[in-house]
Amino acid sequence: MLAYTYVEKGRFELCEKPRPQLIDPRDAIVRVTLGSICTSDLHIKHGSVPRAVPGITVGHEMVGVVEQVGSAITSLSPGNRVVVNVETFCGECFFCRHGYVNNCTDPHGGWALGCRIDGGQAEYVRVPYADCGLTLIPDGVSDEQALFVGDILATGFWATRISEVSPDDTVLIIGAGPTGICTLLCTLLKAPRRIIVCEKSPERLQFVREHYPQVLVTTPDGCPAFVKSHSEHGGADVVIEVAGGDDTFRLAWECARPNAIVTVVALYDKPQVLPLPDMYGKNLTFKTGGVDGCDCAEILRLIAEGQIDTTPLITHRFPLDRIDEAYRLFESKSDGVIKVAIEPPSR
Ligand SMILES: [Zn+2]
Ligand SMILES: [Zn+2]
Repeated sequence: MLAYTYVEKGRFELCEKPRPQLIDPRDAIVRVTLGSICTSDLHIKHGSVPRAVPGITVGHEMVGVVEQVGSAITSLSPGNRVVVNVETFCGECFFCRHGYVNNCTDPHGGWALGCRIDGGQAEYVRVPYADCGLTLIPDGVSDEQALFVGDILATGFWATRISEVSPDDTVLIIGAGPTGICTLLCTLLKAPRRIIVCEKSPERLQFVREHYPQVLVTTPDGCPAFVKSHSEHGGADVVIEVAGGDDTFRLAWECARPNAIVTVVALYDKPQVLPLPDMYGKNLTFKTGGVDGCDCAEILRLIAEGQIDTTPLITHRFPLDRIDEAYRLFESKSDGVIKVAIEPPSR
């Protein structure tokens, strides 16, 4: 089968590999019907993910059809349409039982697919702990509608949930990249009084204006003054930082009102400064980290009800044999690209 492979730093290649086999009783083999490219894939390509193993098939955003299940899997059968979770988690350890699946203590837990083990920019993928890592796609929900549920949409959903958004709030979302827009979609469900999106790219601001006219938009330079003049208490009640830029962490806490919640979803290249003397008395609550992707069934239900629609994010489509082109486009952020869909050859 075709598998897009991390050969060495700076080089991914489409290789011919054998189809994956079941290894553990809790495994499933999934035939990938649609995949995507994530910014984290680019981080692997550039060598900034030290735990990524050369030779592995990359890709951790995909949907497909169950081909085969291990003997311990009772909740899934061949033919089921499923979303694959970016995270591998056992479902049994202390952290999994509390919903903190990002911190699963199993040796195979965490971001494994497309990083430490073969992922899904391929025709087939082996999913460990498949009873936790696969979620059934409801009838009537298409592959394109479900494509981002296991990664960036799970992230937006989780970020909004931990940010405790309430109806009176002004919510500032910093960053309108793919994850920022997913966060926006989940924040819209909470119907706060006001949502402000801050983004530096004119194309992405235009995308937000076009698709979500009920949302206010601003640029990083004008953001502090804009937020102040569009909020009741001198700043945003909730700030969700999804940009991960050089100055966006500072921007996040500066734009927050006293006693606000500041949720940091972004992954930074460098350490950030937390200047406690400057924010003394502001009494902020910071929440940080990586997605606990355990709400996929709930997200799929919301998609089936028509309450979340991420299909406008799919701006380009490529067959798997042209995935090199898709990477070039996604990386260059040209031609208004937000996300690409990658289609393996149909069987
Ligand atoms: Zn990702
Ligand atoms: Zn666990």
